[in-house]
Amino acid sequence: MDSLARASAQATIALPRTAYSETTPTPDAQPRLEGSVQADVCILGAGLTGLSTAIELAEAGLSVVVLEAKRIAWGASGRSGGQAIFGFGCDQSKIAAMVGLPESRRLFDWSLEGIRLIHERCAKFDIDCDWRDGHAHVPIKQRQVVELQSWQADLSENYGYDVQWWDQGALRGKLASERYLGALFDPRSGHLNPLRYTQGLARAALALGVRIFEESPVVKLDRGVRPAMKTAHGEVQCNFAVLAGNAYVHGIAPELDSRIMPVGTYIGATEPLGVERARSLISNDMAVADVNWALDYFRLSRDHRLLFGGRASYSTLPPPNLRRTLQRRMTRVFPQLADAKMDTVWGGYVDISMNRAPHWGRLGSNVYFAQGFSGHGIAATGLAGRVIGEAIRGQASRLDAFSRIGHRPFPGGRVFRTPMLVAAMAWFKLRDALF
Ligand SMILES: Cc1cc2nc3c(=O)[nH]c(=O)nc-3n(C[C@H](O)[C@H](O)[C@H](O)COP(=O)(O)OP(=O)(O)OC[C@H]3O[C@@H](n4cnc5c(N)ncnc54)[C@H](O)[C@@H]3O)c2cc1C
Repeated sequence: MDSLARASAQATIALPRTAYSETTPTPDAQPRLEGSVQADVCILGAGLTGLSTAIELAEAGLSVVVLEAKRIAWGASGRSGGQAIFGFGCDQSKIAAMVGLPESRRLFDWSLEGIRLIHERCAKFDIDCDWRDGHAHVPIKQRQVVELQSWQADLSENYGYDVQWWDQGALRGKLASERYLGALFDPRSGHLNPLRYTQGLARAALALGVRIFEESPVVKLDRGVRPAMKTAHGEVQCNFAVLAGNAYVHGIAPELDSRIMPVGTYIGATEPLGVERARSLISNDMAVADVNWALDYFRLSRDHRLLFGGRASYSTLPPPNLRRTLQRRMTRVFPQLADAKMDTVWGGYVDISMNRAPHWGRLGSNVYFAQGFSGHGIAATGLAGRVIGEAIRGQASRLDAFSRIGHRPFPGGRVFRTPMLVAAMAWFKLRDALF
């Protein structure tokens, strides 16, 4: 048995079963952390945020260790809907109200850098992640048509970012569904295979000398002049610590835990539909998301499945009858898929902040974090890694700009915040159903 095979045999945790993991070979496992290790930077979490940060810092010549509780890409990054969209989890106007228009403009421009970074990294590190151009936000209600058109005007007038408005007739030429009243289409946003992309970044990080330890959950962060991340069998002492555990981390930095809420979101993948049938649904291969509070989002995969996401859940229990629920939601959009088998269903958590704005910053002088992507992390995680990398290298102006966005803790503490959020969400869902 060679050393790679031995490492692979050591892995006891598998990636969650998704349409991505079913069609992508799992790379050889990285070792578990045993004993004491020194590094310039130690990062908790091998998702898009952690890996992006690792690449930025390794490219600048720093020694970097990443500690991952499960496997590379095991969290949201390897199982997401793969829709890479400009902006952040909340409307830019909300950010403008918090930090002022000039600052909001800078943040928006940087969000576009998040999309460009995906292309740059795919080209630089030879990552084939099935990128496709084009994303549409689609309204179901007349109220949402008005909201989307005023968003279009705001983007154009205040941010110099032009997106296209398609009326119902124009949309029908691209999307074979009667459900939507139009579309706000952005040709620069798009979609990708998130598992391939995340694993590609991990390959790039390893090639740059980053040491990644899998199945090595951090149980404690010792803060101080030289922080230490501790696992059951080892520790990493470093000059800078980065927390990139998203909705999956808990108990390492309590002041961060209270500012996000893990919310479950779920995806079903149909059986392969064949190229013709798949293209008959979305002829231009764009990604689509409606603008309901509990939204539906969907796109085609390279092997011609429809990947259909929806059904948010505010409890940590998987929803009952998930396959049936997703199938019902999918056929509400595409009745012509009534006979299509849903092969695989899965879910994961997104890290919602109270205002859905990104929550990135620093604790003390040497512990950095990025969370609160609020279901909008494919592009923004890359930017977060770059911005944290800059701050660690002494250029903190962009991270400081993000730190100025205020974040309140969820009311109700750990025990009661979920029921309170359920009550709030019930109102928004009711509003979507009625108006
Ligand atoms: C089902 C689903 C669909 C989504 N769809 C989209 C979409 O279409 N578009 C979009 O923009 N965003 C989407 N998102 C959100 C997006 O995937 C995330 O914002 C993004 O992947 C977050 O990346 P991350 O690296 O911060 O977190 P993650 O990828 O979750 O990585 C965090 C890692 O930290 C590890 N970890 C946690 N605790 C510890 C510990 N104590 N010690 C060590 N490691 C630890 C976890 O195991 C995990 O691997 C979706 C999310 C889900 C779940």
